[in-house]
Amino acid sequence: CKKFFGMGFIEEIKRRRTFAIISHPDAGKTTLTEKLLLFGGAIQVAGAVKSNKITKTATSDWMEIERQRGISVATSVMGFEYKDVKINILDTPGHQDFAEDTFRTLTAVDSVVVVIDAAKGVEPQTEKLVKVCRMRHTPIMVFINKLDRPGQDPFDLLDEIEKKLHLRVTPLSWPIGNGPGFRGVYNIFDRSLYLFEPNKQRVEQGIAFDDLSNPFLVQYIGDATQQLRDDLDLVSGVYPEFEVDDYLSGKICPVFFGSALNNFGVRELLDCFIRIAPTPIGRDAEERHVDPAEEAFTGFVFKIHANMDPNHRDRIAFVRVVSGRFERNKPYHHVRLDRKLKFANPTAFMAQKKSVVDEMYPGDIVGLYDAGNFKIGDTLTEGEILHYKGIPSFSPELFRYVENADPMKSKQLAKGLEQLTDEGVAQLFTGRATGRKIIGTVGALQFEVIQYRLLHEYGASCRYEPITLHKTAWITSDNKPMLEDFKARKASFLALDKEGRDVFLADSPYALQTAMEKYPDIRFHFTSEF
Ligand code: GDP
Repeated sequence: CKKFFGMGFIEEIKRRRTFAIISHPDAGKTTLTEKLLLFGGAIQVAGAVKSNKITKTATSDWMEIERQRGISVATSVMGFEYKDVKINILDTPGHQDFAEDTFRTLTAVDSVVVVIDAAKGVEPQTEKLVKVCRMRHTPIMVFINKLDRPGQDPFDLLDEIEKKLHLRVTPLSWPIGNGPGFRGVYNIFDRSLYLFEPNKQRVEQGIAFDDLSNPFLVQYIGDATQQLRDDLDLVSGVYPEFEVDDYLSGKICPVFFGSALNNFGVRELLDCFIRIAPTPIGRDAEERHVDPAEEAFTGFVFKIHANMDPNHRDRIAFVRVVSGRFERNKPYHHVRLDRKLKFANPTAFMAQKKSVVDEMYPGDIVGLYDAGNFKIGDTLTEGEILHYKGIPSFSPELFRYVENADPMKSKQLAKGLEQLTDEGVAQLFTGRATGRKIIGTVGALQFEVIQYRLLHEYGASCRYEPITLHKTAWITSDNKPMLEDFKARKASFLALDKEGRDVFLADSPYALQTAMEKYPDIRFHFTSEF
């Protein structure tokens, strides 16, 4: 029988909002994050939040990669308080080679804010990320940014969002002009007008305009008045009335317009966000659904970050608290290892500061120093056997054989590969027939990162060799004889993943196609969760 805590605990859950900001690089994610932190008083000056972007030129510059990794530890989680709400923003890497990191981070949030550049509209990276959110029914808010620059027509932008992102939208604010003619926004949510002044330091105050036919409107926006009236007529005719429940169930996305750089429209976004964004929700474990208000602590690891100081081999495992209260120095059950672990220095991330904390609540992210016990997806509990679902690995897209380049260091290489792949940098397969190790990634950059980190953190050298591989698929079947037959015939195209599961190595689309046709009782899985 599950036990639930008292009111104080429930209040702590209800005042938390854990979300991620996602965008195509350069749309303004970093700028928006920074402005949100400024509102929370978490930082005092602009420029304090560093972009976690790994630029393409950085691939040949390893100091740069290390610097970027430092930034991405510092910005992994940014917690702050605003109007008595505890907000946790989870950072997601902008570079597409690290898309899997982003997918995993999306499993740890309860909602997302999508930033779109008003001139560029919906870009490819946004499409991919939103697809993942849609699969999970994550509530989405959209912020259309850079209205101070010439941009597309707002109706066209909303159309594009509906078509490309397959989202239904309803605007909660509406822009008056754009670029040099940008006058401000009309906030449909609180029925007031916000006038734009570029680069102002202070935060704009809304002017209440319940009724847009009010003749005084002309005094504020002059010849843009008629256009605004016409636009809003059309808006109320075309878009559905905003209902919080539709947003919370992922059916409709409220849209705001603004300019993050000019701090314009950001506060309305934040004020609306804390009112309507979901409080921490429970999660499904394989065994059962877990409610955040349950008394017993549970959580899962969604990200692991290695220490960049090669003299300290420790890592930080990021744990999303799902239920109960996490307490410092209390022994918890590491389900996969079937071991009790205690944490003397659990870390909270407030803005850019890390600090040791005594307790954490559902929705919070706790950083645990770890000497190698954790893998992505691990579950911690007070003793119950639970396995949280929903942290899939995707079938990689790029493959290489990895060979030891220094015979004296084979142990170091094995350990390095094991730990780096536990962190989720790449996937490791072992060819069944050959015993050769194969690394699979979603981006080319990872190969370089692995080689570099093996050398610098483990003292191991590796060499890559090409492999002709189109795709890997995890294989399962209830039809034992068919599976055995397949495995016997395809022996040289089989590998094991790190968990010892069978993987088919398809060297061409044709090979995959024919295998699927010839062996109808075998299931070919392209994500590790099946
Ligand atoms: P990210 O890659 O999504 O994190 O984007 P950044 O926040 O780093 O922004 C990319 C560039 O766009 C930077 O040069 C920002 O100064 C600029 N930028 C962000 N918001 C605005 C805006 O509202 N107006 C204008 N004109 N530029 C902006």
